Amino acid sequence: MFTTSFWPAAAAYQVSMMDLDAPDHLNPKALQTIHYCLRLTEAINQLEAACESRLLDALREEMSIQCFRLAPMFDCPDTRRGLFLRAEILADDSCGKTVLPQIAGLNEQQLVLGIGSTSTWVGKSKQSFYSSWFGEPAPVLQEISDVMDSLFPESLLYLQKEIAADLLAMPGCAYKIINLFGIAGEANTYPKHFAYFFPEDEGLKYSPVKRTVVFANTYLQLFELFSRTEAVKMGWAEDMLPDSHVCQRYLIAWFRGHDLGHSLVRNENVFPKLSKIDRWGSMMVQEALADQFGLLMCLTPQVAEGLQLDRTVLARIYFLEMLRYLRRGPSTYPDAGAAWIQFNYLREHGCIELKAATIDFHPELFFTQMAGLTRLMSEELLGGDTERALAFMQQHCPHTNPEDVEVLMARLGTTNDMIEYNQLIKRVPL
Ligand SMILES: [Zn+2]
Repeated sequence: MFTTSFWPAAAAYQVSMMDLDAPDHLNPKALQTIHYCLRLTEAINQLEAACESRLLDALREEMSIQCFRLAPMFDCPDTRRGLFLRAEILADDSCGKTVLPQIAGLNEQQLVLGIGSTSTWVGKSKQSFYSSWFGEPAPVLQEISDVMDSLFPESLLYLQKEIAADLLAMPGCAYKIINLFGIAGEANTYPKHFAYFFPEDEGLKYSPVKRTVVFANTYLQLFELFSRTEAVKMGWAEDMLPDSHVCQRYLIAWFRGHDLGHSLVRNENVFPKLSKIDRWGSMMVQEALADQFGLLMCLTPQVAEGLQLDRTVLARIYFLEMLRYLRRGPSTYPDAGAAWIQFNYLREHGCIELKAATIDFHPELFFTQMAGLTRLMSEELLGGDTERALAFMQQHCPHTNPEDVEVLMARLGTTNDMIEYNQLIKRVPL
């Protein structure tokens, strides 16, 4: 059992505060009830770690009752349905297999929520712990993601032309973008997740319906707090990055592209086989491929035009995010391992130059090299040959090259940047 809320273990953490405003147009009774649910979550989360008791059963039942009470306070049919379904599963967790896919298929307009046992970070623990989170749909950002979805056939054609003619898309998952305003339990420990995959993160791996829920305000805050600050430290002029609201467009477009990128395969899918031999390595290369496919999708002419994405700005934002991920520790997180693979390739090919005091980035070389890496990985990893895939992982992954990791991370510095939520809903009297 964890003895602190922080992970991974470190001698010190840099914690930055982020305000989560309470939505001002929600029914005051609904706000109060949600606040109460957050407090209940904390109680259940703490008690579950220590014991099983009748008190716990009563608290879990109380949570179900609160969801029943909340439902009629909303007009949107899917929001109400989400609350009723959540109440049902909280009252009887054996119905998860039928109820969780139904929740993943909703399109709520007022409130999106999750309550119950939730997975932790990959690598932190295989167990799940009690959590809850509440957010409001973010329609402007959702529209950006919807443009990526509607132009996915064009993006696939573009990738077939640029990367591999036999790329094909397996069924993907839906995407729901929200602004988080309340969170408790495991999901509120460190580091903060800004995306959850449902129903997988609630323990149901195989589901006919799936969706990713993105906490957009958290994601964008991470960029502003850490990536933009890094740009200043590297001496970038202020006008090299657009304003926050413009950067959002790039980040959401790429991140949805990443999600869609996970569905792309060629020939026979060797990842299930690779996972059995080297699960960690297999996750890293899958994340890297998704990153790169997502990036290249943003270059599809219809996407770049429709979302007004400038190539140089896209390259710079991607580079900063890659650096942010990498510095979190390539051996600790699969997505940081994915950044490691990409960073090293770009470095070997001259797009990134590590100098004594600076890191130079050459955006004009970036896309040619990223397309080159994607072609290479698509050939080695998606060609259906397990041996070749394993050889690629051996050569390029961080966990198979620990000495190189030590050298580079000593140069770049590992970060333990975290955010802590100041949840204003907790000021609502109970
Ligand atoms: Zn991913």
